[in-house]
Amino acid sequence: PAMVQLRSVTKTYTNGYEALLDVNLEVKQKEFLFITGPSGSGKSTLLKMLYGEELPTQGEVIIDDCNVAALRGDRLSLLRRRIGVVFQDYKLIPQRTVAENVTFVLQAQGYTRKEIQRRLEPTLKLVGLLSKADRFPDQLSGGEQQRVSIARAIVGTPPLLLADEPTGNLDPDNSWQVMQILQKLNTFGATVIVTTHDEQLVRRCNHPVVQVQNGRLYRK
Ligand code: ADP
Ligand code: ADP
Repeated sequence: PAMVQLRSVTKTYTNGYEALLDVNLEVKQKEFLFITGPSGSGKSTLLKMLYGEELPTQGEVIIDDCNVAALRGDRLSLLRRRIGVVFQDYKLIPQRTVAENVTFVLQAQGYTRKEIQRRLEPTLKLVGLLSKADRFPDQLSGGEQQRVSIARAIVGTPPLLLADEPTGNLDPDNSWQVMQILQKLNTFGATVIVTTHDEQLVRRCNHPVVQVQNGRLYRK
């Protein structure tokens, strides 16, 4: 079964810029997909449409059998809870500890304290940061900060994990660590979609690859 479907998707920004042109894509449940392509080719735009940050100008984006553009209010929030997102620049809250950054969203979603505690420890363990739960982001390396952001993305166990250039600010060792965590989550059953322009990293992993070039999608 498909987790993600794009059907003839075109995205034109309000300034007239055509960022994606007639893109078709199907990603099956439990698949790991790389999206490569040069800077400015439309990779982020594609991911933004998957988590509902941008809407398609034409065509349909279907996640888990839901047409994203047709969802409003509660149903859109519920879909978003089923999608974890990791960004190149981590987007951690500087005034909050690692543990607080990871559990913040669960609190906002009304999980009980007990349930939050039950989820926090194994999640931090998975990303290798259990001993740093009480640190603040500026006391961590870039690689550690990215692993906090992965923990935040997965603590609600979303079936779909999106990572937009997750290794863009990391050296090769940290990049590989992050990629191994994403692959482990995939083996646990998550559908994972990663954008990157790091060809070497892509070659090191044995996953399907599509390439975006000037807003068009090509299978490699
Ligand atoms: P909208 O959702 O209405 O496009 P945004 O806040 O995304 O609004 O952007 C406002 C304007 O800023 C856009 O119409 C565009 O002209 C410009 N803009 C924003 N981000 C970019 C970008 N990454 N590249 C080029 N222009 C951008
Ligand atoms: P990539 O992730 O591959 O670097 P993006 O999807 O961020 O590419 O951007 C694709 C193109 O769309 C770029 O030319 C960018 O400047 C433009 N763009 C991105 N966001 C906006 C926006 N909000 N408004 C106008 N143009 C944008």
